[in-house]
Amino acid sequence: MGGTFDPVHCGHLSLAEDAFRQVPLDQILFIPAKRSPFKLSRDMASEEDRVAMLRAAAAEMGDCYRVSSIEIEREGVSYTYETLRALRREYAAEGKEDPLYFITGTDTYLNLELWRKSAEILSTTVFIVGQRPGYEDERLAEKMQYFRKTYGTRTLVIDNRELDISSTEIRQRIRAREPLAGMVPKSVEQYIYEHGLYRTTEAED
Ligand code: NAP
Repeated sequence: MGGTFDPVHCGHLSLAEDAFRQVPLDQILFIPAKRSPFKLSRDMASEEDRVAMLRAAAAEMGDCYRVSSIEIEREGVSYTYETLRALRREYAAEGKEDPLYFITGTDTYLNLELWRKSAEILSTTVFIVGQRPGYEDERLAEKMQYFRKTYGTRTLVIDNRELDISSTEIRQRIRAREPLAGMVPKSVEQYIYEHGLYRTTEAED
């Protein structure tokens, strides 16, 4: 599951947990982007802070949830095709040939063709899609059918808990000194306050 995770929140985490419960997966890797291609111009928390928050959250979820720093360690913009190629090489070297699954929300999925080397990604990766409140099932169903016909893409839509939480809202609440009200795990909330994150950020996702 790739993301900017600025910061990671219970919407991300519940999507990952619901995917893990409903699809036979070996493990979930949270992959924070060094620089997400569509968010190049905005300021964000440092890589160290975003990784530390993810690690704190993943540690509470169990051994099957890990954080990969593959994109943080790679220079430049974090293109997903490069990450998927690298992970496939790594697993193949260990004798694992199972397909890779990429977990996304609906918005990300609907816009996948805008990604670099999208045809390669869509023809080699299985997508697990969760919904956020307010998204239209019809557009998702049309897109799934189109991806399947065009690229042979396998897509699994899961029945996930729909939590109306966004990183943007969390940053806004912190700036406004409003409580986070269970939007992030306690460990993440503590990290945010201890490190003084997001007090002045104005960016929108
Ligand atoms: P993000 O904002 O941190 O979100 C990560 C994922 O969590 C998204 O798929 C998002 O779905 C989902 N999500 C967020 N809040 C949710 C909630 N309340 N309930 C359910 N799902 C929720 O990360 P991002 O910046 O969108 O990036 C996602 C991934 O796409 C990253 O790995 C990034 O590098 C990759 N990406 C790649 C390219 C490229 O290769 N050219 C271009 C753009 C993005 P939504 O879709 O609903 O927001």
